[in-house]
Amino acid sequence: MNPYGSLEPTPREKSGTPLYPEVGGLSVLFRGARKRCPRCGEQRIFPSWFRLARACPRCGLLFEKETGGFLGAMTLNYVASVGVWLVVLGIWLAITAPDVPVTAMLVASAVLLVVVPLWFYPRSKGIWAAVEFLVLRGDPDYRAPVRRDPRTHDLE
Ligand SMILES: [Zn+2]
Repeated sequence: MNPYGSLEPTPREKSGTPLYPEVGGLSVLFRGARKRCPRCGEQRIFPSWFRLARACPRCGLLFEKETGGFLGAMTLNYVASVGVWLVVLGIWLAITAPDVPVTAMLVASAVLLVVVPLWFYPRSKGIWAAVEFLVLRGDPDYRAPVRRDPRTHDLE
């Protein structure tokens, strides 16, 4: 079941060679999760661990279109962190019950709830940027960048 299935692009008229081949919705999300540009797959979209570039240095896709647009990323991060924590806690409880090491569990929980969100933070931003890109791409007015030799422009 793919909740983003409805966002898959419908075949439309091709004008010029697309500069970056269009990939499916799941691939776009997967690119986001790997901290890559959802449109072209560019790797260098995070100048630092916590900061997503304003736009892709390769294809120019804007990431921060509106202020507060990353509420979705924060929600993703929260859900993922709590999810991981609950799974770890559940497995640990199942293995150690009835002699549950409460102190160790509390310490591990605290560490986990700090480390996982920090690790996942750029990925949540990447995934959210991918979701926004899928919405953008679903717009009938959206035009993918087409092939054009930038060097001819520089020489003019
Ligand atoms: Zn890009």
